[in-house]
Amino acid sequence: MSGAVKVLPLGGLGEIGMNCMVIEDDQDLFLVDCGLLFSELDHFGVDFIIPDFSYVVARKDKFRGFVLTHGHEDHIGSLSFAIKAGLQSPIWASPFTALMVRERLTESGFLDRTELKVFHPGDTIQVGSFKIKTVSVNHSIVDAAALIIETDMGKIIHTGDFRIDPTPFFGSELDLSVFKEAGDQGVLLLLSDSTNVEKCEHQPSENIIQKKFEQLMNDQKGLLIISLFSSNVGRMGQIFDLARKMGKKIALCGRSVEQNVRLAFESQYFKGSESLLIPTDSIENYDRKNTIVISSGCQGEFGAALNRIAYGDHKSIKLKPEDLVVLSSKFIPGNEKPISRMVNQLFKSGAQVLYESVQEIHVSGHATRPELKKMIEAVRPKFFIPVHGEYRHLVFHAALAKECGMKDTQVRLSTNGDLLEFTKDKMRFVEHFQEERIFVEGRDGGDISKLILKDRRLMGETGIVFALLVRDQENRKVLSEPEIISKGLVHESLEGFLIEEAKVRVKEVIRQYESSLQDGDYSFDLQEQVRVELRRFFKTNIGKKPVVLPIVMEL
Ligand SMILES: [Zn+2]
Repeated sequence: MSGAVKVLPLGGLGEIGMNCMVIEDDQDLFLVDCGLLFSELDHFGVDFIIPDFSYVVARKDKFRGFVLTHGHEDHIGSLSFAIKAGLQSPIWASPFTALMVRERLTESGFLDRTELKVFHPGDTIQVGSFKIKTVSVNHSIVDAAALIIETDMGKIIHTGDFRIDPTPFFGSELDLSVFKEAGDQGVLLLLSDSTNVEKCEHQPSENIIQKKFEQLMNDQKGLLIISLFSSNVGRMGQIFDLARKMGKKIALCGRSVEQNVRLAFESQYFKGSESLLIPTDSIENYDRKNTIVISSGCQGEFGAALNRIAYGDHKSIKLKPEDLVVLSSKFIPGNEKPISRMVNQLFKSGAQVLYESVQEIHVSGHATRPELKKMIEAVRPKFFIPVHGEYRHLVFHAALAKECGMKDTQVRLSTNGDLLEFTKDKMRFVEHFQEERIFVEGRDGGDISKLILKDRRLMGETGIVFALLVRDQENRKVLSEPEIISKGLVHESLEGFLIEEAKVRVKEVIRQYESSLQDGDYSFDLQEQVRVELRRFFKTNIGKKPVVLPIVMEL
């Protein structure tokens, strides 16, 4: 017997991204997914947010590896950071996921240290004491899997990200009978994707996109530029398929698109389509109305291919009035402004632009309420925890489980850091670990502490003031006039006057300091008093307290 089973989400519960879940018994522990969160703090130099692995690192002896549900960044993007933190057991992944992991770990130099074990969805794998059946699911990336984890306390089902699509481009419809069968045998806990729970209606199949693309290609008068998430191999497969049937050529634009198309060829998804590709830099030699560009940058990312095309900065692709740009993706919340700016710019260049709110050119890879309901009804778990979603998504998904007949005691609204323990019939909250998320600069960069982040934010909001004083090492007297320099504080025309006034204040502090020295009192903290006085001075005069850095040099 391996005793109770513990479940601890390190990320993904309360946010879209950073999915990472600890599953643990007395002997063994593994992680389901190891994702990152793209940061909204990029203007402070924070590129990613990753989970805090310290709980797992402290139990390294029983760590048996990572099991990945699919290759999206919010499921695999933190692997190199976890490995850097000392977790180096095998990584289990489906074929396409494994290729994506291989690319990431090659970039970060960790591939040699890692054992990558490939499973085909449908396979059963053994991870320590846990027997895990992997199940193929539909999602916006190929080779996605749900996990049915056998534990001594019962089955735990982790859906990963999924939807139920009767006609996906690659593969077949998610087989609910596998989940029903598990439900018949009894399932202890269901952890299910909540991303799209707010949508009540059935969503169309991915194949409506192919019909739409076919129509656009038929009507094509100029270049057709389709921008999408570069990992959406299924959708790119539809473009390749249509281009082959209609005798069109494809140019790739953007590093991530090129990389994922290369992986799709390697994993045989685009078999026989090599001849369709043309070099992007020779696009002008081809008939525009028979040329399709697949481009990255559908979120308006600065510096990405589509943004450069929009602003006329792309070296090979210059837009012309008959060209059509299609954003075949969701506008991710938080990205609306850069996307809008880019769409406006595309229109200004004379091209036509289609996007989700004006035409049906995107369907989501996440289950909506009717599909989520089918999953709960198939599995009929003893306990249910909604995962993968912002807090409100988790609330709606918990409510949906109750609509399906589950009792309050069976449904748990958990957030990151909630350690829960399961026995055959009981779910017990053990403790909450204060959620520590780690801010990272660059894909292989270092951590940014909360203090650094606070300083960067303050400097950005208020500017910075340096005050330089020189002091005699022997008698501790200040030797010269204070120097004050400011950056980003006020308009240049006011700066001179303000700095002179600030110097007067600092001189007053120096006077107080020297008078206390004369009294034989050496406790006066010159540096701190200058800081306090200057912050007070600027607050009174310009209404904000800048970051003040007093520097006292000893000579
Ligand atoms: Zn996903």
